[in-house]
Amino acid sequence: MKIKTLLISAFTIVTLSASAQQKKPLATTAGNAVPRPKLMVGIMVDQMRWDYLYRFYERYGNGGFKRMLNEGFSVENTYIDYLPSVTGIGHSTVYTGSVPAIHGIAGNDFIVQATGKTLYCAGDSTVSTVGSSTVAAGQMSPRNLLVTTMTDELRMATNYRSKVIAVASKDRGSILPGGHTANAAYWYDGPSGNWITSTYYMNELPAWVSNFNAQKYPEKYLKQDWNTLYPIDTYVQSTKDDVRYEGKFAGATTPTFPVKTSAMIDRGFGILTSTPYGSSLTLDLAKAAVENEQLGADAITDFLAISVSPPDYIGHQFGPNSIEVEDTYLRLDRDLAAFFAYLDSKVGKGNYTAFLTADHAVQQNANYMLDNKMPAGFFQTSAIMRELNTVLENEFKVKNAVRSFSNYNVSLNYPAIESGKGSLADIKKRIIEFLQKKEGVAFVVDMEEAQTTNIPENYRERIINGYNRERSGVIQIVLKPAWYSGSGGTGATHGTLSPNDTHIPFVLMGWGIKQGKTNTPYNMSDIAPTITGLLKIQEPNGNIGKAVIEAYK
Ligand SMILES: [Zn+2]
Repeated sequence: MKIKTLLISAFTIVTLSASAQQKKPLATTAGNAVPRPKLMVGIMVDQMRWDYLYRFYERYGNGGFKRMLNEGFSVENTYIDYLPSVTGIGHSTVYTGSVPAIHGIAGNDFIVQATGKTLYCAGDSTVSTVGSSTVAAGQMSPRNLLVTTMTDELRMATNYRSKVIAVASKDRGSILPGGHTANAAYWYDGPSGNWITSTYYMNELPAWVSNFNAQKYPEKYLKQDWNTLYPIDTYVQSTKDDVRYEGKFAGATTPTFPVKTSAMIDRGFGILTSTPYGSSLTLDLAKAAVENEQLGADAITDFLAISVSPPDYIGHQFGPNSIEVEDTYLRLDRDLAAFFAYLDSKVGKGNYTAFLTADHAVQQNANYMLDNKMPAGFFQTSAIMRELNTVLENEFKVKNAVRSFSNYNVSLNYPAIESGKGSLADIKKRIIEFLQKKEGVAFVVDMEEAQTTNIPENYRERIINGYNRERSGVIQIVLKPAWYSGSGGTGATHGTLSPNDTHIPFVLMGWGIKQGKTNTPYNMSDIAPTITGLLKIQEPNGNIGKAVIEAYK
């Protein structure tokens, strides 16, 4: 009799998993359901520095960033635990609890050392665009990511009954958080103004996404122009509007408000993501995803992975001390407040958990630093690489021995070096000697000897975490704080080990989360195990992080 019962329940389980794609409620005994939120919402704000929570605090409303701080739990000292601090890696690390040495995303672009070929972090030539006629925009998938994400683990933990949807205007900001098993990842195609995906996920957009695209929201937003939310003279936290640290929009004569986006529509809809309207549109699509995919509608936890990319474009163009950036965050605060209010009414307050973090932060413009009597500088990457290759050609008879300095590591041209004079060891030694003499360079490290090189332990750990033997150049350049790769232009950038680039927000709110904060230092790789612990699912398979247990109720 007992055996018969077992056989029957085994049969039931087989039947259930065969229909795993249709969501069905858990066949549990009443009261035995695992306590989990109905919906997990990940919000990454591209280029958001931790101090923006406080820099603009007085002007935030009560429903956005402040609500997260007041109702939720802030992990005040969260740092990026690898070099270089860029978008593709940040999204990978937040969702995998892992680092480039293990998860394989060694840059936005990186060089496969064995072949010398450049790979884009989300690039995949075997798939194609779904949702527009822009060919390259959809040749994207998560295949270059070598480990599972927390979203993959959620899918596996519920035998694919949990839904995972990822949304970001940048493809990599959507695809990498969505993981390998997402139901869908959507990103923005500038030329058409459409949200698109790739054949990795599906062959046709769902009707709700097509309908969303048909509304032509980008045009509606751009027709409004971009003016400051409040009178411009109230932006006391920022430098004045017309300064030499800011980049101009194409066709504009000054980097100032109002930004006449209505006059830019004839150049396509790509410009939307360089305005706060791109953030609004991202959250509009996220809302539509909750609505149409019934995210959080039943007891099986779903995951909505959002990344808000426009603050990064705006920050790059204008720098962190601009009215443009301040206005971007004041507007994002309003958008987040509306989004949380929507989730409260749709999924129910207390039924979802949201976390907010960033893929990286940002430096000050070096000229701004110099003008304000602080040390800084531009490391002229291309010119220095050309000079180095000339030195190596003269001394070792090798042409173009260095392929690239991208991601602050030196990728070598191994076939060229083999056919020239001089050993690899001698050439590496010469490169290090040459680079160490360049202005702005703090350390140059042969990554095969990183353990015995004399550098601060905190730097050593992070450059080792960032070094992927198959995908990173073997020599690492570490610049002095406030120095970055660039030729002396406007705006700002990120990528270094400096706290300006690596101190990110990590705030959680909602189901299972205590109110409070901790000042204990944590790493970006601690985010994923914090979330998987909350969800009672396995951590991603490349995880090296540890959960922030103080945040749990
Ligand atoms: Zn960026």
